[in-house]
Amino acid sequence: MCDHSGMSTRIAVIGGGIAGISAAHHLLEAYPDADVVLLEMEATLAHHTTGRSAALLLENLGTPSARALCSASVQFLREPPGDLVDAPLLAHRPVLHVATREQSDQVDQMLDEGRSATTPTIEVDLDEALRLFPPLRRERLHRTIVEPDSADIDVGALHQAFVRGFRRAGGRIATSTRVDAARPDGDGWRLETTDGDLGADLVVNAAGAWGDVVALGAGVEPVGLQPRRRTAFMVNGPGLETTGWAFTEGVDEGWYIKDDGPQMFCSLAEENPSEPCDAKPEEMDVALAIDRINEATTLGIRSVNSAWTGLRTFSPDESMVIGPDPEHPTFVWCVGQGGSGIQTSPGAGRLTADLALGGEPSAVFAGLVLDEVAPGRFRGRR
Ligand SMILES: Cc1cc2nc3c(=O)[nH]c(=O)nc-3n(C[C@H](O)[C@H](O)[C@H](O)COP(=O)(O)OP(=O)(O)OC[C@H]3O[C@@H](n4cnc5c(N)ncnc54)[C@H](O)[C@@H]3O)c2cc1C
Repeated sequence: MCDHSGMSTRIAVIGGGIAGISAAHHLLEAYPDADVVLLEMEATLAHHTTGRSAALLLENLGTPSARALCSASVQFLREPPGDLVDAPLLAHRPVLHVATREQSDQVDQMLDEGRSATTPTIEVDLDEALRLFPPLRRERLHRTIVEPDSADIDVGALHQAFVRGFRRAGGRIATSTRVDAARPDGDGWRLETTDGDLGADLVVNAAGAWGDVVALGAGVEPVGLQPRRRTAFMVNGPGLETTGWAFTEGVDEGWYIKDDGPQMFCSLAEENPSEPCDAKPEEMDVALAIDRINEATTLGIRSVNSAWTGLRTFSPDESMVIGPDPEHPTFVWCVGQGGSGIQTSPGAGRLTADLALGGEPSAVFAGLVLDEVAPGRFRGRR
């Protein structure tokens, strides 16, 4: 794609997490002649939220637009292009929600919501629940629900698939390069980075928790993003005989756990607000998760091998923000990935590329109401 002077369109993607790299890959797929550079402030890509997730594909998660973006992503996740990956990205893993007697109403609510779900959500008896996650304490269980078609995602391989596609198509990646500000320059932008200035015709803001910081630095009205902490940690598990075990969580989303080789991956599933930062775990959050998991299971967790915290970043209505800014059409948003940015990344990246230069969404987005992700939808509300 060239402008009238014969120059390739210069696109700068800010952020090397899953959102930025997918957008960058899809932009070059859609516009092979464009000159696309991805700018990442850290020394390595995927250092922040993308490298800290639970790596799950759970199709019935989040707002209707998040589910539509997930549906648009499933084909890529199930049958990724053979030249971009060496092994399957998904490994089957059922998701089990468990409820005590007092939480029975939440089960009904979940089953109700599940009726319009993309994939089945079914109630199972306690024997089946114990088969799916043997350490559960039967006396604490009252009702249990399964989402049988869920899967683990190989996040590293997915991210690398986009890196491969992007690099092969001529894309450039600049790590340790922070964008500090962007000034309008003709129809495009002059970016001030820690590595010097850079001209771009189009800027894609995929800066995760820093999405509003990047917008403010460009003189663009922020959308009101809220990063929320979520802590995860690894403990020793009962051994390697965990084949077929479910990802298991309290129906109140107060804890979750899954096996990861000889260890168990655990989380408090908390949603505490935070500033954009390199979030670190707090002892109290880990201790509370251990209490809850020990109450619900016979695992008897006493010590932690490693712990980390990631920021899940939400827009005010919890749907993503994708597409050109209404007042600055050469400033394109791809933020607000919340708790589903991995499983929606093929779709979110492709939609960003579809809309970036004023185009229409591809047919895979037939189930998506575009207004639900439109960057202008919060304007004038605050
Ligand atoms: C504990 C936990 C469990 C999760 N589980 C799941 C799950 O099971 N399934 C799922 O789909 N999702 C899950 N998520 C959510 C998912 O991880 C996120 O939605 C996703 O990683 C967000 O990706 P991102 O690219 O938007 O953000 P990030 O990965 O944070 O990337 C943003 C990048 O922008 C860079 N950046 C910021 N500002 C600048 C700047 N000025 N200049 C240059 N670079 C900049 C940052 O350094 C960062 O690398 C989970 C998250 C957590 C924390």
